[in-house]
Amino acid sequence: MSHFPDLAAIDALDRADPLRRMRDRFAMPEGVIYLDGNSLGPASHAVFHELEQAARHEWGHDLIRSWNTAGWFEMPLELGDRIGRLVGAGPSQTVVADTTSVNIFKALHAAMGLRAGRNVIVAEGGSFPTDLYMAEGVASTRPGTELRLEGVDAEAIEDLIDERVGVVLVNHVDYKSGRLRDMAALTQKIHAAGALAVWDLCHSAGALPVDLDGAKADFAVGCTYKYLNGGPGAPAFIYVATRHQAAAQNPLSGWWGHARPFAFEQHYAGHVGIRRFQCGTQPILSMRALKAALVTWDEVDMAALRAKSVALTGLFIELVETRCAGFGLALESPRDDAERGSQVSFAHENAYEVMQALIARGVIGDFRAPSTMRFGFAPLYLGYRDVWNAVEIMQDVFSAGAWQDPRFAVKAAVT
Ligand SMILES: *Cc1c(COP(=O)(O)O)cnc(C)c1O
Repeated sequence: MSHFPDLAAIDALDRADPLRRMRDRFAMPEGVIYLDGNSLGPASHAVFHELEQAARHEWGHDLIRSWNTAGWFEMPLELGDRIGRLVGAGPSQTVVADTTSVNIFKALHAAMGLRAGRNVIVAEGGSFPTDLYMAEGVASTRPGTELRLEGVDAEAIEDLIDERVGVVLVNHVDYKSGRLRDMAALTQKIHAAGALAVWDLCHSAGALPVDLDGAKADFAVGCTYKYLNGGPGAPAFIYVATRHQAAAQNPLSGWWGHARPFAFEQHYAGHVGIRRFQCGTQPILSMRALKAALVTWDEVDMAALRAKSVALTGLFIELVETRCAGFGLALESPRDDAERGSQVSFAHENAYEVMQALIARGVIGDFRAPSTMRFGFAPLYLGYRDVWNAVEIMQDVFSAGAWQDPRFAVKAAVT
């Protein structure tokens, strides 16, 4: 935006917004500007109906027959393919299963197995911690495996990749700063060194276009309860490129990944396809909430989504830096649109208290230690006026010093 926007300009943007009508799908409470869809996406009205149907009729009435009659058994693959469309994965490469943490374990272990003779896993020191914890877990099951971390062993991840590296675990969008990586370029560098790439899409699936097949990614994992709005604890997904499926081994060799689960054989024989990356019985009710959420996604044009996301985050940065200047905020997200995911982070000395004061006024973002205020912008249910109103409240919280109220300094278990 070339000049400072006024309210008339903001409302004109909302009127011209092709995604505006999506907002009605969501059950957003009154008085809330929800800037935390990057942590827990909101419920859609369709989810309530779907859960009622799944619980009352399929479970309540049809009972065990529903594994066949309601498609429960095939649902992880069906939903996997639907998510695949959003992340640039052709069919039969993505399955919904387990949690992101568990899928990181499976993907890293499988990737190391495909690179026998190499003993280094590379990851980002500033990564969401569970990624690192799971990498440590994988290393502990493979004696002699080393972890090399960006920000610890070298500044740039590219400088850590050599002929000893088997796999590089990397976040497409950083959970804290919102920095967006060039997936195709980095994957190419990883491959040039003979290593494999595991992409974590937790903050890009449903936030921006992703092209796993085009980037020649090897493995990917991601979350469905953030931008995809699948519901608290909704199962995650894992992508394994077709070219690796015959050789890649799932270290969690459970019966759902067996070639013939209902033959009840004594020994494990993995399925030849993406099914192998399942482990055991899946949480069907959670999966049904995700299924309902994905109906909305089936209609979304990801290019339009990205255009609006960039406009919303750019507007937020511009408004905050203008209207909240002098209050000690420092932008932690990339200023360049092309390098930013769908969130904006600001550092502040009293980030926790300020965020609590904002939440008390209905502007819900979150806090990440030690000093980050994080604001997610989900284009399906947020408009330009929401951004404007959020910044107005933020300015008020700062200028009135409302965040200094001692009740805002009391830390909750989940931040
Ligand atoms: C949200 C998130 C996770 C969550 O993992 P769970 O197993 O679902 O708890 C993992 N990694 C990243 C990068 C995340 O942003």
